[in-house]
Amino acid sequence: MSDDAKRDDGPAEKATPDPFEGLSIDFGGGPTDAVSLNGNGGATASPAPISFGAPISFDTPPAAPVRPKTGGPVGGPDDGAERDENRTKMLIIGSGPAGLTAAIYAARANLEPIVLAGIVPGGQLMITSDVENYPGFPDGILGPELMAKFRAQAERFGTRVIDVDVERVDLSTRPFRAWARGIEYRADAVIVATGASALWLGLESETRLRGRGVSACATCDGFFFRDKEIAVVGGGDTALEEATYLTRFATKVHLLHRRESFRASKIMIDRAIAHPKIEIHTNTAVDEVLGGAKVEGLRLRDTATDAVRDVPMEGLFVAIGYRPNTDVFKDELEVDEKGYLVVRDETGSKIEGVFIAGDVHDHRYRQAVTAAADGCKAAIDAERWLESEGISEATTAGAW
Ligand SMILES: Cc1cc2nc3c(=O)[nH]c(=O)nc-3n(C[C@H](O)[C@H](O)[C@H](O)COP(=O)(O)OP(=O)(O)OC[C@H]3O[C@@H](n4cnc5c(N)ncnc54)[C@H](O)[C@@H]3O)c2cc1C
Repeated sequence: MSDDAKRDDGPAEKATPDPFEGLSIDFGGGPTDAVSLNGNGGATASPAPISFGAPISFDTPPAAPVRPKTGGPVGGPDDGAERDENRTKMLIIGSGPAGLTAAIYAARANLEPIVLAGIVPGGQLMITSDVENYPGFPDGILGPELMAKFRAQAERFGTRVIDVDVERVDLSTRPFRAWARGIEYRADAVIVATGASALWLGLESETRLRGRGVSACATCDGFFFRDKEIAVVGGGDTALEEATYLTRFATKVHLLHRRESFRASKIMIDRAIAHPKIEIHTNTAVDEVLGGAKVEGLRLRDTATDAVRDVPMEGLFVAIGYRPNTDVFKDELEVDEKGYLVVRDETGSKIEGVFIAGDVHDHRYRQAVTAAADGCKAAIDAERWLESEGISEATTAGAW
């Protein structure tokens, strides 16, 4: 596990396995206490649950189009060649904004991509509610709804999306190979877009109130906490950065750290100490997030004395790190000291034909729009590489 991902706050830090856990959005007309985070400042009970009319389900992959082994347009004339539905010119691993954008571009270039979507189809945006900074949606859009649109757009052009986690890859020879649930997929080019998982404290109440005042992304959700009193948990640079950033919105930011001293750099600590809106609480652990439909307080424990107290609070940002989803690739591709994949020449890797996109390498921006842009770049680079290898026809550079 990377330094970035090392946990030093909370009882049982872990990457979240199930993106739907604690999702605050009611797709099917559920209980009326569903909560929407709104731009007028913080978590507020919405009058009615948000409903899209029909549930968005990624459970059943669409029927795979029959495709010629050597490529060619999906649904095109039968060339009589042997068919192998698990062989593709382009295999995309991951179905967040990066992977699905790569799929849209690859599919429109007739590369008939297969997306192995992972057991968290849709990626990190599946665990958030309102997304207000993705261009094209002036009124904002719910994270899961945005990702359903990404997927529908990729499928519209013939992408085959399969909701499985890749367990193993062999990138040492071509065609590249990946295995998932006992099935071997083979590809001429691979795009790795497996993202990163935010680390959480591991509290049931934290999961339940995610999107209802609990978040892991200040850039994304800080705006919703205007004029609120909130807390940030963590002891590294990220926590201090997030706390400082959140002072733009909140009336007060409590920085909670379970140890006596911070891991963050001295300059960040000094800045936080000097900030009139930040109050630092060392030796302080979060034992529980209080509240029914939204965050109303925190149960804090003094880690030196074990004394417990409840304090009112309107939001909690968990800033204890991210874990890049690179376990499957770390023996084949380069990883940096934090465990993220290393890119060469924009989207390339050390292996020709293997490309990288999104948060799996980018721990600087970590935004849906930057991940999507990366997916676009990786698909264009992969297509040009396939063309240079004589695997795909010279087509598209001007026709994306
Ligand atoms: C709480 C929260 C709120 C956020 N809100 C916003 C926001 O409002 N606006 C914004 O721009 N950004 C927001 N972000 C950040 C944004 O979600 C990410 O930057 C973006 O999702 C990264 O996209 P990605 O495609 O690189 O990776 P991810 O979205 O992480 O997707 C990775 C994909 O890879 C798959 N995967 C992982 N391992 C494997 C494997 N072994 N095999 C197959 N598939 C695998 C996963 O299942 C997933 O589908 C938020 C993040 C969080 C945590």
